[in-house]
Amino acid sequence: MNIEVWLSSPHMGGNEIKYINEAFDTNWIAPLGPNVNGFETDLEKFLNQKVKVAALSSGTAALHLALIECKVGYGDEVICQSLTFSASANPIVYLGATPVFVDSEKDTWNICPIALREAVEDRIAKNKKPKAIIAVNLYGMPAKMDEILAICSEFDIPLIEDAAESLGSKYKGRACGTFGRFSILSFNGNKIITTSGGGALVCHSQQDKDRAVFLSTQARDKAPHYQHSEIGYNYRMSNVSAGIGRGQMEVLSSRVEGRRKMHDFYTEISKDLEGVEVFCEPNGDFYSNHWLSVITIDEKLASKNREDLRLAFLEDKIESRPIWKPMHMQPVFKDAPYYGGNFAEKLFETSLCLPSGSNLTDNDRSRIEKVMLSVLTNKKSHLISH
Ligand SMILES: *Cc1c(COP(=O)(O)O)cnc(C)c1O
Repeated sequence: MNIEVWLSSPHMGGNEIKYINEAFDTNWIAPLGPNVNGFETDLEKFLNQKVKVAALSSGTAALHLALIECKVGYGDEVICQSLTFSASANPIVYLGATPVFVDSEKDTWNICPIALREAVEDRIAKNKKPKAIIAVNLYGMPAKMDEILAICSEFDIPLIEDAAESLGSKYKGRACGTFGRFSILSFNGNKIITTSGGGALVCHSQQDKDRAVFLSTQARDKAPHYQHSEIGYNYRMSNVSAGIGRGQMEVLSSRVEGRRKMHDFYTEISKDLEGVEVFCEPNGDFYSNHWLSVITIDEKLASKNREDLRLAFLEDKIESRPIWKPMHMQPVFKDAPYYGGNFAEKLFETSLCLPSGSNLTDNDRSRIEKVMLSVLTNKKSHLISH
């Protein structure tokens, strides 16, 4: 089926090509150069917390390096939010460590502070103190940072903030991507801004950034010949990709506005649909970029379920997708420890990600609305009038 209305597609601002041309004109076609430095500076200014940013080849690479900088190694354990994309957890396994998954809570769908505390205390009781905690800001929604950071400092465990989906989001006025001992960003093609593929590690000292750059460029010692005292990686961002990033940074704020407008659109439609809830901020402390808009369908109240809606969208060449399948339900992680209840599992059964791009048109929106209204017919107004 060829899709016409995408969940989340790239949205160029126009100046990306100018920066790419500069890279070509000056022959900086390499994993270093003025665009890489410029993109890092743009991100540092945007995040506005005296952070130091290292631009890398992917968000996954950034997580891998964050874990290395937290000294995670063979046989260690790392706590990770279960309801997330597999890239949050995979780098734990790259290092020979074990992920310990934790359920989400209902306000933000992110790691539940109560289950997190239980996990930390139980692992410590088993003599396996976690080396790091990975919290995610799912679909742009900031996690409960105050509660999570309190646990991190009480037990002296570093937070790695997976902000791959939340560039432009804020918690109590502070930018997501600045809360972790390390935070990571992604510029994959489906994210709020893209470099076609790329990521970044957000650090709080020049020293941490220097170490990330060192590790991401094959860990070369200072010598005229090639000498290595450590295992390195080829994880630096290309100067061509970074050119796209510089162009995208010029339009990031308007991309956030566009995504939030899509969220408002779904809120408006769903008001009249019985059993349909749009995932939204619990209160004014949370400001989501609404990277993806998500609805939850109460199967007892709505006329149709999540899968009926997804297939109806597909019939009309509109892409939608179930939310991330929790990591503790994944075959590949079936042996990993898990803490919490079944909140993430229930969400997975009932929730659907809807087309959310900042480049969707009025025509796209009316197509989406038509399908939603025709499938989810139990309108509240009907119930009242009968
Ligand atoms: C996209 C994403 C990543 C990985 O980023 P890549 O740049 O694709 O490697 C990690 N975590 C989450 C939550 C993501 O959505």
